[in-house]
Amino acid sequence: LFISFEGVDGVGKTTQVERLRDYLCGRGLTVRTTREPGGTPLGVALRRLLLEGVAKQSEDGEDGGRGEQSEARGNAQSNAQRNAQCATQSADIAHSADIAPRAEALIFAADRAQHVAEVIRPALRRGEVVVTDRYIDSSLAYQAGGRELTADEVRSLSMWATGDLLPDRTYLLDMDPRRSHARLDHSEDRMESAGDEFQRRTRQAFLDLAAADPARFVVVDAAESVDEVWQTIRADVDQLIAD
Ligand code: C5P
Ligand code: MG
Repeated sequence: LFISFEGVDGVGKTTQVERLRDYLCGRGLTVRTTREPGGTPLGVALRRLLLEGVAKQSEDGEDGGRGEQSEARGNAQSNAQRNAQCATQSADIAHSADIAPRAEALIFAADRAQHVAEVIRPALRRGEVVVTDRYIDSSLAYQAGGRELTADEVRSLSMWATGDLLPDRTYLLDMDPRRSHARLDHSEDRMESAGDEFQRRTRQAFLDLAAADPARFVVVDAAESVDEVWQTIRADVDQLIAD
């Protein structure tokens, strides 16, 4: 049994994942809880890239050995004097912390590929219940719904990355992002600093995905209390494990 939790930031996915884990353990099942991005060692490195952006390459270089590098920089500087426009463009690229949309989608797909290969499939093969905090629908909602790629592109990328593995059940915790975000500490996270309009579109993308696949999705009103949300999930999961 493979279960995913989805929804915008701050809707309480992590709390419900823990409740579900404890409940299923209490029912005698072996439960593997995990998350994306960052469910494997490779994933942790990729998550850091995604959330913190990319380090400024030229400054990192300055911390390292001086000799060859400063010589290279000296050459770059004389090149710069010969062709100011060309040198300016290179410097801009080296200092950019941004990740292009296709590159970002590929990094999330790489995280998911590793997650499925290293954690999810082996656990399912052992007969465990796998519960993941985010999976393919987050990519569809964030990389496609919120940004400039199409859902078909992102879906085929993710299906390729996972060898077509989809959850048996997906709980979409749905809530107005303006309310869920009030619960979060937005300090460090590049992704969570995206604007209101992006969050609103992401929420709608999740709802559209759920409407298109009612056999897999259960939409839960996450504005209710933690206990009420959990009761809704429990009622559904009882049926799942009885089948
Ligand atoms: O849920 P979690 O805090 O682990 O997600 C990290 C960040 O990555 C979130 O801010 C979420 O918006 C973003 N994300 C994303 N695309 C995904 C998964 C997560 O943009 N496929
Ligand atoms: Mg978060």
